[in-house]
Amino acid sequence: MEQIRHNLRACIDSLPEGVALVAVSKFHSIEAIQAAYSEGQRIFGESRAVELVEKAKHLPDDINWHFIGHLQTNKVRMIIPHVSLIQSVDSERLLRLINAEAARINRSVDVLLQVHVAQEDTKFGFSPDELINLISAAKTEELSNVHIVGIMGMASNTDDENRIKKDFAEIKSTFDKAKALIKHNSDNFNIISMGMSDDHQLAIREGSNMVRIGSSIFGERH
Ligand SMILES: *Cc1c(COP(=O)(O)O)cnc(C)c1O
Repeated sequence: MEQIRHNLRACIDSLPEGVALVAVSKFHSIEAIQAAYSEGQRIFGESRAVELVEKAKHLPDDINWHFIGHLQTNKVRMIIPHVSLIQSVDSERLLRLINAEAARINRSVDVLLQVHVAQEDTKFGFSPDELINLISAAKTEELSNVHIVGIMGMASNTDDENRIKKDFAEIKSTFDKAKALIKHNSDNFNIISMGMSDDHQLAIREGSNMVRIGSSIFGERH
């Protein structure tokens, strides 16, 4: 656990001001999260609904839980009471469902739209064009219980730095277009979540202001 605290401090020290850190704790234990919490970390990312809810029940209330994985529609209801940000909204249907479930318990939920630019077709998300269409169609204005506060994306899983850079640049330019077009609450549309353990330096250079880092803080996942 001392190793986790050490890794976290090094990670925080390496981030420029204005870049938020999501400590990605998926598959790691409650004790591992407590170690990071004791070092001051308050934002944690999880990619499975059942795991997030279980951890949230056992850990302090002032943790901000971010959901970062593919969210199945039958799991929305379960996570709504516990999440502060859903980063991985990848369809209009999911967006509407989150709105309905949030309204049901009388809260509002912040979300990011996930954009897909990577080479792999296995990654979820809107294409840049689909995302821009959704934002500009004004369809989202009637959704009063979700706040779209930015976008999230991933680069291709490759060693080719140029390709990674190009992917991040495309995510950033999609953000810029969306920010210019969004009609509702555009002042709150500010988050560009991109960059993980291996590529966050590159992501920050391309304009990221939120990085999601797991293995370089908590070690390998099993
Ligand atoms: C697991 C995961 C991360 C963290 O990845 P690391 O390489 O361990 O830093 C970041 N973002 C998403 C969406 C993830 O699923």
